[in-house]
Amino acid sequence: MNNDIYVVIEHLRGQVADISYIMLAAARDLAQVTGGEVVGVLLGQDVKALADNLAADKVLYGEDAALAEFTSDAYQLALAGLISENEPRAVFFGSTTIGTDVAGVLSARLDLPLVSSCLKIADGVIVSQICGGKIMAESGLADTTTFITVIPGGYKPEEGQGGPPEVTPVSVTVADLKVALKKYIEPEVADVDITKEDVLIAIGRGIQTEDNIELAEELGELLGGAVCASRPIVDQGWLPTARMVGKSGQIVKPKLYLALGISGAPEHAEGMVEAENIIAINIDPGAPIFDVAKYGAEVDLFDLIDPLIEALEEAR
Ligand SMILES: Cc1cc2nc3c(=O)[nH]c(=O)nc-3n(C[C@H](O)[C@H](O)[C@H](O)COP(=O)(O)OP(=O)(O)OC[C@H]3O[C@@H](n4cnc5c(N)ncnc54)[C@H](O)[C@@H]3O)c2cc1C
Repeated sequence: MNNDIYVVIEHLRGQVADISYIMLAAARDLAQVTGGEVVGVLLGQDVKALADNLAADKVLYGEDAALAEFTSDAYQLALAGLISENEPRAVFFGSTTIGTDVAGVLSARLDLPLVSSCLKIADGVIVSQICGGKIMAESGLADTTTFITVIPGGYKPEEGQGGPPEVTPVSVTVADLKVALKKYIEPEVADVDITKEDVLIAIGRGIQTEDNIELAEELGELLGGAVCASRPIVDQGWLPTARMVGKSGQIVKPKLYLALGISGAPEHAEGMVEAENIIAINIDPGAPIFDVAKYGAEVDLFDLIDPLIEALEEAR
């Protein structure tokens, strides 16, 4: 085993995902402790140029027609070969649909340990945010290559941008695939594109009833923004899927994200942590939303909304 830290670069349709840069920043912190290099692992076809902006010491580039579109099957095969052969100290994956899919199966297939939901590397300690963000767990590297899935929030994407690094082509074995991508299904066309809004009023389970959404809409109108939501609100059919923020929804970066009654679970935070100003309103002082918020008030949202609406109306 060597001391290098591998980062599996996540990209889709010609774009490097922000989580890849976040992982590179985390990997740099870990590499400083292990004394190894930060090595990006870029898989795909005709995507070598995506390495240009990666803050890695070097990039291993595995090209194959079967990797032209992401499938977990193809990534697992390509990575299993590379990891078994090179035995890096650790391998970072995004705690995303793509990353968790690959990391979980590879961990079982190669019998290597997996630390999930890493937020930060602190002096070589892996700090994970688990149980919906309510518990911070600390772990160290195992004696074997250790897999780590990374959630956003601990590092800014800009910290993992840089380069261009040296790119080394590597041969990957990808054969007998059982899964193939047939087509991309575009998300439903939305009445409002929440990814383009500067102001978002985000509601969570704390809003309590469907009728109360009206209050958030009123606030949105006064602040010149739109209403978006956490997953439970969408799951109940109170708002369309296109309004959902997070892992299974949209990634938003508004100037203002006013979170009303949202706990701030990692799956939600993943979609909003890059907002310029996050204001959290929650009755629970331990709610993880306060960890990512710039401003917060430990208050009942129903005690706040009416006076806020009145104040905004007066200010008009
Ligand atoms: C694979 C997977 C994918 C997921 N994808 C997503 C996703 O894309 N987006 C997403 O949002 N979630 C997603 N989730 C769900 C996620 O884990 C959380 O369960 C969800 O985000 C919680 O939503 P919430 O914060 O609205 O509800 P809760 O966690 O129930 O939080 C409600 C909050 O409201 C506060 N509250 C209650 N009443 C009041 C009041 N009167 N005033 C002020 N505060 C109040 C409470 O203190 C609490 O913090 C996913 C989960 C999984 C497993």
